[in-house]
Amino acid sequence: MPGYKHPCRYCDQFIPPDSKTCPYCGRANPLGPLRCPKCQNPIILGAKNCSNCGLSLQVKCPKCQKITFFGDYCEHCDFRLVVVCPNKKCSLEQPPLSEYCVKCKTKLF
Ligand SMILES: [Zn+2]
Ligand SMILES: [Zn+2]
Ligand SMILES: [Zn+2]
Ligand SMILES: [Zn+2]
Repeated sequence: MPGYKHPCRYCDQFIPPDSKTCPYCGRANPLGPLRCPKCQNPIILGAKNCSNCGLSLQVKCPKCQKITFFGDYCEHCDFRLVVVCPNKKCSLEQPPLSEYCVKCKTKLF
């Protein structure tokens, strides 16, 4: 449906369905369900593990060192929870769930 808008996951303002960042609060990935970075299974907000593959969804924030739900931002300090795979052929953006890239297994840190 043209012009149909969806609410931003973070600020609840209605935004265009193809938004990569929210025009109101400026956060990335404002739409759609969170997906497991490993198996792409939709994830329930606050879940401790992926219900499909069992991947742990709790991460230590690289900034404040507190444990947070993996999401896109730290629940405590709003730090963007993303690391980019250093393997140039992969360069996958992913939450800092493990020391190794979920796709190519390159060490991330
Ligand atoms: Zn927003
Ligand atoms: Zn999974
Ligand atoms: Zn934090
Ligand atoms: Zn990789």
